[in-house]
Amino acid sequence: MKELTGIPVSTGIAIGKAFLFIEDEFPEIPRWPIQKAQIEAEWKRFTAAAKSISSGLHSLIERTKRDKNKEQREILQAHLLMLEDADFQEQVRERLEKDKQNIEWSVWTVAHNLTQKLLASPSAYLRERAIDIADMARQLLSKLLSTTSVSLADLAEDVIIVSQDLMPSQTLNMDKTHVKALIMDAGSATSHTAILARSFDIPAVLGLSTCTKEINAGDTLIVDGNEGKVIINPDPQTLAAYTSALIHFEKMSLENFMLGDLTAQTRDEKRFRLMANIELPSEAGKAFKFGAEGIGLFRSEFLFLAADGEIEEENQFAAYRDVIKAAGGRPVKIRTFDLGGDKIFAKFFPKKEKNPLLGWRAIRFSLAMPEIFKTQLRAILRASAYGNAEIIFPLISCIEEFEQACALLEEAKEECRKSGRPIAETIKTGVMIEVPAAAVSAAILAKKADFFSIGTNDLIQYALAVDRGNEKVNYLARVLHPAVLRLIKTAIDAAHEAGKPAAMCGEMAGFPRYTPLLAGMGLDEFSMSASSIPEVKRALRAVAHADCVRLADDALRCSRRDEIKRLLDAFAATHSALGDAR
Ligand code: PEP
Ligand code: MG
Repeated sequence: MKELTGIPVSTGIAIGKAFLFIEDEFPEIPRWPIQKAQIEAEWKRFTAAAKSISSGLHSLIERTKRDKNKEQREILQAHLLMLEDADFQEQVRERLEKDKQNIEWSVWTVAHNLTQKLLASPSAYLRERAIDIADMARQLLSKLLSTTSVSLADLAEDVIIVSQDLMPSQTLNMDKTHVKALIMDAGSATSHTAILARSFDIPAVLGLSTCTKEINAGDTLIVDGNEGKVIINPDPQTLAAYTSALIHFEKMSLENFMLGDLTAQTRDEKRFRLMANIELPSEAGKAFKFGAEGIGLFRSEFLFLAADGEIEEENQFAAYRDVIKAAGGRPVKIRTFDLGGDKIFAKFFPKKEKNPLLGWRAIRFSLAMPEIFKTQLRAILRASAYGNAEIIFPLISCIEEFEQACALLEEAKEECRKSGRPIAETIKTGVMIEVPAAAVSAAILAKKADFFSIGTNDLIQYALAVDRGNEKVNYLARVLHPAVLRLIKTAIDAAHEAGKPAAMCGEMAGFPRYTPLLAGMGLDEFSMSASSIPEVKRALRAVAHADCVRLADDALRCSRRDEIKRLLDAFAATHSALGDAR
């Protein structure tokens, strides 16, 4: 039994088998020593994997013969030759006997050495063969590690995904019915993969650094998404303890549903609005069951990612309309595509940018691609006729961007009118406050925008210069940094001075520990993953607004994060509904 600790990003407990999903050209290969007596068994694993791949290659070659695809056939034949090459096999066998390490390690070492030699060759032909060896080795390793090299979309059984770093699109497309939990070496609580795991109610622990090295395919795992723990091959007592914890957690989740109808207000009856963040239309129903008073953030780009960029106006319109109808008059804030950063796909982002987070992202992408942008705006406008839609523009850093986006919105309205499509009389437009420049100049933006939605995930990343998905630095992503609190307060005050509401849709809004602080700072609306709504509501109902205001004033006077944290700790000690500090 072994225990790893990471960042708990999606609550819940899962017990199941490890499924290693490793995608690199040469993945981080698990390595473990073997006894002399195990050599034959390891070699058998190798020959079985090679046999299975070669029979797959044979049938593919047959298919290319039928399709008359000569080029593909040649590549496949090259892979087959290499796989069946006596010299390659001999080298693997020698390594296995000499190093007495698992077979994956032997395969990796031989393939790695071969490719390095070939890559150093002056001959272009030989350098290209290195790619073939890499590809063939990857297939062998995938087979040996029981991973698929293609997708997580069709899993045959219930598994716990163990990965270095899943892209949001991979998380989105994985077969959720079979994923019991998700653990990763990289990532943080605000990475998009974490956000998706929460949306799908999949327990997740990220930022584990070494889980892909320490866990072998098929190991039994306990994933504790509440505490951020992963237990590898637990002993019977631990397994029994977690089985009962699992039952208790499921009961608690059920009780949370019951809070749905209670009002989101403090003890002294100051009312707040609690909304849900969603990524896909299918989540809307669940959001309202948890008591959401509307959708505070619909991350529409996931529609785009789920469809690999092939999404027509009609399909978008239907998706937005479904959510708006499900909301039954409650507001639905649709954020226009926040593509770029880690939400990329080959069609529009064929080349990796040097600094994707500072690059062609969100509103910058949309303004540069007016046809895609206007198609989306028309779809939202048409859906607005079915209820209460609002639009949020992401990553605004100056008033000009907001004005340009609004001008394109006007054009899209005109196009809808011309084609006789009904749209709502008015549609509110808001700004995401997630670039420090926007927070600092919030008073300028507040004059034009109808509302603000503070995106703390990016705001913290950009204010503190910390990549939100990088496990090496995310300990620095401090929500309670005095600079972060000041930026939030500046934005809230600017909105209020202009008579506009201030919402928050970053992950900070979903942690009950921060609820009194944000309520005291004047936030009007909290938007979060649906399952956090009951906890935040419980937190609000446990406090008096007057105390929250005092707490916020004190916090804003502090110069250090530790002092702010101590204030929150002391406050929480007298209010049991406020969870752990982060
Ligand atoms: C944010 O940045 O806080 C936010 C809500 O947007 P996203 O997490 O989708 O970047
Ligand atoms: Mg953001």
